[in-house]
Formats: sequence, C-alpha cells, structure tokens
Amino acid sequence: MSASWDDYHVVADYHTHTLHSHGRGTVLENARAAARRGLEAVAITDHGPGAVPWVGARAAGVFEQIRAEADKAQEATGVRVLTGVECNVMSADGDLDMAEAELRRLDLVLAGLHLMIVPRRVADAKTLILPNILPRSWLPGDGRTRARVTNTKALVEAVNRYRIDVVTHPGLHLPVDTTELARACARRGTRLEISSAHRETDEAFVRAAAREGVDFVLSSDAHCPGRVGDLGAALQVARRAGLDPDRVWNVARHS
Ligand SMILES: [Zn+2]
Ligand SMILES: [Zn+2]
Repeated sequence: MSASWDDYHVVADYHTHTLHSHGRGTVLENARAAARRGLEAVAITDHGPGAVPWVGARAAGVFEQIRAEADKAQEATGVRVLTGVECNVMSADGDLDMAEAELRRLDLVLAGLHLMIVPRRVADAKTLILPNILPRSWLPGDGRTRARVTNTKALVEAVNRYRIDVVTHPGLHLPVDTTELARACARRGTRLEISSAHRETDEAFVRAAAREGVDFVLSSDAHCPGRVGDLGAALQVARRAGLDPDRVWNVARHS
C-alpha cells in the first residue's frame, strides 16, 4: 500500500525563473520567498540561451553569475539555493541549447519543449516548430499527429543523450505521447514535472506516466517571487491521481 499524503510536506521548488531570463525577481528575492514558504531548497532555473532574446539567458556565462548570486542568497536566507537551467530542446534529434560540459557545472538540468526559441537551422524550424504552430488546414495529411510524433521523439532523444533531471511541463502548447516519454524517462532516471502553473500536467497525465514507472517533481515554474513555492495545485493533482508520495522528488515525510 502506498503512503498517505497527509504524512508528507513539500521541501523544495526546483523550477523558478529570475530577471536573468524573463522572470521578474532576483535570485535573492526567490530565495527569500522560498524561506517564507518554509522550503529547504530552491533552484534558479532560468531559460537556456536558445530561447528568443527577451526570454532566454543572454549567454551560457550568465549561469556563473547566477551561481555567485545563489551562494550569497543561500548565506542570507539559510535556504539551499541551487543553480540550474531550463534548457530548450532545439531539434527533433533532441539537441539542447547548452553543451554537456556547461551542464555538468550546474546543480540540476531541466529541459522542455518551447516555441519561443531561435532555431539553429532552417530544418529545425521546419520539423519542430512549424508543425506545432501552423493552422491544421495548412498541413498535409494529419499534421497534428506528425507534430506529436516529432515532439515526443525530440524529448526522448534529449533524455537519452543528456543527463536531464526533469522534463518540464510535458504537453504544454506542444502535444506529446505521455506513455512513450515516461517510459524513456523511467529508464534514464529523469523525472516528469507536475506543474502548478500549467494545467496540461493533470491527473490523466500523472496516471498514464506513473504506469510506466517514472518518478515526478512538483514545480511552480514561478516567474515572480510571489509564486515561488506555490505548489498547492501540483500537490492536489498528485494526490487526486493517487500517486505514491515516495515517487515525488521534492516531498518528505514529516519528522
Ligand atoms: Zn518552460
Ligand atoms: Zn520555466
């Protein structure tokens, strides 16, 4: 029998943004917000440099600056402040927008599919972006189905090629085959996100993914300090889906 959620509480928020990408607060403000919520840890996971300029970090070097600010914020608040990234999947082959060596310097790596990216090659725009944004009638055959196949392949390839801790908001704006993605993530120890900010990661998603043996994380995807640690909606989804709390990374049993 699985454990009762009443015995568990949330200890961390591993998906938050700051002014270093298109969030509205500083690293210190996110850390203070996490402290107010009683969290033990918060991760700063700004968007990778492959995003359009007004959304993404300006260059991979920004993450060194975030690390310095995270260390200071940790000292000031007593909350463990991790330096991470929310990478963009840039191609159907699963290329991420940061190199493996850069990712190894970070505490955690999130990755997700986003439309607001600057494709590196015309072919990537054609295969990954256009089928997701063109009106259905413009696409030959069942373009939406093909988009889903391509989106799923892109994420699965990324999960197989890189050490990714969490795939963010699967199914947001871009359709994905949950079962296939969850199977790949389970094999690689990559968690799937249940987002407080995006309703696509609902109970049906959690149930379908959980059947494949994957683990999960509850995240706020906060873009302002006030929303850091706002994990109530994600927690409710996990509970209602009947998920075993031991399969959720950022909850712990009351001591
Ligand atoms: Zn995202
Ligand atoms: Zn995000």
